[in-house]
Amino acid sequence: NWDLILYVNLELVNKMSNRRFIVKDMLGQGTFGQVVKCWDTETNDYVAVKLNQKFDPDDKHNIVRMLDYLSFQNHLCIAFEMLGQNLYELLKRNQLRGLKVKYVRAFSKQILDAMVVMRDAGIIHCDLKPENILLAPSVATAAAVKVIDFGSACLEGKTVYSYIQSRYYRSPEVLLGYPYTTAIDMWSFGCIVAELFIGLPLFPGASEYDVLQRMMTILGGQPPDDLLREAKDTGRFFKHVGSIFPGSEAPDGIPSAYRFLSEEEIETRESKRPKVGKWYFPRLKLDRLIYNYPWNNSELTETEETDRLALVDFLKGLLEFDPNKRWSPVQA
Ligand code: ADP
Ligand code: MG
Repeated sequence: NWDLILYVNLELVNKMSNRRFIVKDMLGQGTFGQVVKCWDTETNDYVAVKLNQKFDPDDKHNIVRMLDYLSFQNHLCIAFEMLGQNLYELLKRNQLRGLKVKYVRAFSKQILDAMVVMRDAGIIHCDLKPENILLAPSVATAAAVKVIDFGSACLEGKTVYSYIQSRYYRSPEVLLGYPYTTAIDMWSFGCIVAELFIGLPLFPGASEYDVLQRMMTILGGQPPDDLLREAKDTGRFFKHVGSIFPGSEAPDGIPSAYRFLSEEEIETRESKRPKVGKWYFPRLKLDRLIYNYPWNNSELTETEETDRLALVDFLKGLLEFDPNKRWSPVQA
């Protein structure tokens, strides 16, 4: 059926036809690809076959390759290319002391490259963290990484779950229960970049309250009132105190109508947390945290100083409370 073949991926259709399925008709166009009506020569019945769009077909954007899949005793099994250690294992191997700026920069660039492709396709990864970034066989001695684990991914505008992202890397909008976009991946990415440099997670909160408190201490300010007003879970963390409460401010210095709850005020479920976090971590402002790392060393070379100032600037664009102002992968 040549009309049909014009619409679907020729290579795939030929492969399918040679094997088990004979393409009969076009059933529909989905968000992710076409669905074709096929005759199954094994079961002698019609089936609907979905042809997924191929992303990054030439393996140029640092996303793990799927090689094949099979069904084994009712389990869906997916074969991926073999990659190396994940970035958490790499940091651990380095005694959690962080990586040199040149590696932080190289890995960041590669992850962003993958994120541009994901964003163009409207895919939200929903679980970016060091464990889901793997070392790849390096190209000509340069270190390389790939993004893996699309097991929690969803499409922008078709989000289903509200309990997503690993806690340390969870964005303010997800914590607060506000409709989310691909910008949540950029937040996680910001957390990853900081962690690659300092060797420890930036917001290792033992609870969601703890994570939010750490964000506000390190970044200064709090999520903007517009977000707090619209989000459905704001009441778990904030008290509405009217329009001119002078104590708390959004990052741009505008007085907020919301006050962050004290530890005594939050639900017991939330407050059950160790007094000392899992990780030793100075509660410094972001610039000091990065600039003074490893916190006992005062002498920086000129290059180190320039690198760190640039890194702080970069992180501020990513770790922006307001998802609409947060940098996109292309901007970053
Ligand atoms: P989960 O959804 O359970 O987190 P992942 O796909 O993230 O599953 O895989 C779990 C771990 O297995 C990863 O953090 C990584 O260490 C290892 N792993 C996954 N895929 C690969 C791969 N292609 N090559 C090497 N190790 C992998
Ligand atoms: Mg994983």
